[in-house]
Amino acid sequence: MITVIKNGEVYAPEYLGKKDIVITGGKIHGLFSNVKIPSEIGEVNVIDAEGKYVVPGFIDSHVHILGGGGEGGFRTRTPEIQLSQIVKGGITTLVGCLGTDGVCRDMRALIGKARALEEEGVSTYTYTGSYEIPVKTITGSCKSDIMLIDKVIGTGEVAISDHRSSQPDFEEFISVIADSRVGGMLSGKAGIVNIHVGDGKKGIEFLFRMVKETEIPIKQVIPTHMGRNKELFNQGIEFAKMGGIVDFTTSTESKNSKDIRASEALKLMIDSGVSINNIQFSSDAQGSLPKFNDNGELIGLDVGSEESMFLEFRDSVLIQEVKFQDALKVITSNVADHILLNHKGRISPDMDGDIVIMDSELNITEVICKGKLMVSQGELLKKGTFEK
Ligand code: ZN
Repeated sequence: MITVIKNGEVYAPEYLGKKDIVITGGKIHGLFSNVKIPSEIGEVNVIDAEGKYVVPGFIDSHVHILGGGGEGGFRTRTPEIQLSQIVKGGITTLVGCLGTDGVCRDMRALIGKARALEEEGVSTYTYTGSYEIPVKTITGSCKSDIMLIDKVIGTGEVAISDHRSSQPDFEEFISVIADSRVGGMLSGKAGIVNIHVGDGKKGIEFLFRMVKETEIPIKQVIPTHMGRNKELFNQGIEFAKMGGIVDFTTSTESKNSKDIRASEALKLMIDSGVSINNIQFSSDAQGSLPKFNDNGELIGLDVGSEESMFLEFRDSVLIQEVKFQDALKVITSNVADHILLNHKGRISPDMDGDIVIMDSELNITEVICKGKLMVSQGELLKKGTFEK
């Protein structure tokens, strides 16, 4: 099957002008001006993108695909993610992770779920471990999980500065990063460590120590939830200016006034002189979001959503007035660069055929995963195996 996307305004993420994109065998074959495919060659699916934005599929590097939460007892465990939730939000590639609960959820189940989603059509990877140090791996170490298991590209989400963290000392913490780094080097993967940063006063002090006291490159770690409060956000500016990557979570509880929303954080970071290349978004989808009333009492639980990443991208452009291609980078090419997915995150020949098409008001109309149309004219074409 050949797919041709005609006459769209292509952002790769940089603006390339009006182009036709040809996708064959799940990959981008090339970009052309007014291409003509002879009908004898086989079935050709033509998508008219006149007046629309054509962009790379979004990459979400932090998703609780097995469900998350459980911190209010077993009934507060959030459900597994379904395919439709992913593709409706324009996500074509995602990295699954475990969080607080590394007992009733484990790496075997995580990899099983990642494989299921891959069979259903999206591209999936995972980290090894959960909040805990020592990291609970499959093969005995972070290094060997990264080297021996195709799906595993790094470690995480390891928790620091959080009451739910296993409270590792600096030496224990740094040895996990060193182990993951070497595993990544030996297998041609990122070997990055995704760091869950909580509300604790120390923030990312461990990461500043890593830069100061060790030889490990600053980009070996990706701290997430960096918009959690003002103090942490300011540490993030300092860290990014040193060359580090900062990740902002797009699923946030609106009543939590301490949170800086990802779109606002992006604007503030750019205004303070941080390079756009050091910033990324992730959704934290299927993580639990506690809801509090004005007295701070727990009144319910919500679940993080995949769609939030697109909505924060949209708000970055429409409300914060961040340049379209800059806002796009934080959910496409930057993420691909940071987690070393060389075949993802850009529209250019030989990259995977992962594409999102948006109308002029920035509504998602089409989503294509490895050449397969999953959403068409805003309607879901493909659902998960057990979705109604
Ligand atoms: Zn987290």
